[in-house]
Amino acid sequence: MNKKVVIVGAGPVGLLLAHYLLGRDSYQIDIYERRSDPRTVSFSKSRSYPVVINQRGIEALSNIEGVFEALKATSVESVGSMIHLKDAKTRVLPREKPIYILDRTHLVITLLETLTKKYDSSRLNIHFDHRCKLLDFEANIVTFENVASTAEVCANYNLLIGADGSKSRVREKFLSQDLFEFEQKYIPYAYKSIFLTTDEPPSLQPGYIHTWRAGNGIAATLVPLRDGTISGTINFPRKNNAIANFSTTEDVVQFFRYNFPEISQLLSLEEAEAFLNRPISNILTIRCSHYHYSDSVLLIGDAAHATSPSLGQGCNAAFEDVVIFNTLLNEYSDNWAEALAQFTLRRKPDAHALVELSDNAFPMSDKLLFFEFFIRLRSAQILHQLFPKRFSKSLLQLVSETTLPYSEILNTYQNWITKVKQSNKRYMTKTEI
Ligand SMILES: Cc1cc2nc3c(=O)[nH]c(=O)nc-3n(C[C@H](O)[C@H](O)[C@H](O)COP(=O)(O)OP(=O)(O)OC[C@H]3O[C@@H](n4cnc5c(N)ncnc54)[C@H](O)[C@@H]3O)c2cc1C
Repeated sequence: MNKKVVIVGAGPVGLLLAHYLLGRDSYQIDIYERRSDPRTVSFSKSRSYPVVINQRGIEALSNIEGVFEALKATSVESVGSMIHLKDAKTRVLPREKPIYILDRTHLVITLLETLTKKYDSSRLNIHFDHRCKLLDFEANIVTFENVASTAEVCANYNLLIGADGSKSRVREKFLSQDLFEFEQKYIPYAYKSIFLTTDEPPSLQPGYIHTWRAGNGIAATLVPLRDGTISGTINFPRKNNAIANFSTTEDVVQFFRYNFPEISQLLSLEEAEAFLNRPISNILTIRCSHYHYSDSVLLIGDAAHATSPSLGQGCNAAFEDVVIFNTLLNEYSDNWAEALAQFTLRRKPDAHALVELSDNAFPMSDKLLFFEFFIRLRSAQILHQLFPKRFSKSLLQLVSETTLPYSEILNTYQNWITKVKQSNKRYMTKTEI
């Protein structure tokens, strides 16, 4: 008998999960996505940003034939980060293992193309422009609204997966269930994406993630991408920030000249205007008491545990969810009652640890602490290289170059996380951000 699975959300995790489930016997998948097919609409700059895929993501993608190869073909391989300091000085943080960087939209397109190349409508149907509206967990029915016509479509399922991101509609329905606990917090920083092009030979060294810190908690991250463009984000405190008060293109140009002179050299007037009009995006972190309802509903990816992007782990952790869920289906021979309950048990400690790590790995403002962070990072790298049995890898290496559970990384680095958390709290109270 076919197992009818409805996935809400054709983001990175919904699509990778479809790959895994279709690799199993008798799974029939319907994916519903509120946005249009990204292969047919023009690239939306307000909704995209570069995503770093590291060890956890690489392993998850490599299990499906052809997917990691397709991703490599559209991404840049990065060997480290370059921190830009005052007076055009730089510090390099090298990596032992390469990571891959591509725009979120291109990540989704890669997963979509590899999926639709392999499976036809006898097993897979993707319904774009369909927003999840109503859920009936008792009757196993979910209702979608066609975004264009407002017509409603009902779908039955044996298993429903909420892969619909940090503002999950599926998760909202969990709130009406007994004993479901849930915490959502906006991180104190917001961001705007930025897209630069240059006719010159690239002035930012390819193969690196470039970061700058200006005063007042404002920072920039840029990555030269495979197509020759440079994109990234400008991050700034949600409250009391200059960026929300820009009213002219000249304000934008002046801001970059003053805070990020190297970036201002790459900023065209056209992009300055687009930057002005681009909406400010806020970021949610999510903690849930459980990720399943009975044997028929599961939350996965950002819907279950959205985090701050500071460590570049949201997508990687979401891909790791897929591997863990697939392993549980193997262990419990596709018995969903067991596999779903075990998913909550196994994943929750690591998901909560990741939120804690991502919120508190980096000092917000304390210059001394930031210097200590850098020294700790380099010394851990060197000591581990020399005495791998006696010294652990650095926090960043453990997070991005291994698949060690996040809860173990938090245990190893608890002192540092506590120290940064206290310093960040003091800074937030002082500056009221
Ligand atoms: C600025 C920034 C930088 C980041 N950088 C990194 C990084 O370097 N590395 C990393 O690993 N992670 C990074 N992340 C996090 C990463 O983008 C997310 O963790 C990842 O996209 C989660 O995938 P997802 O599929 O769970 O959710 P999403 O990507 O949010 O996808 C959810 C999908 O569900 C759809 N949807 C939502 N509601 C409905 C509905 N009601 N009905 C139907 N469809 C719906 C949405 O349209 C969307 O397509 C970053 C995030 C941000 C904001």
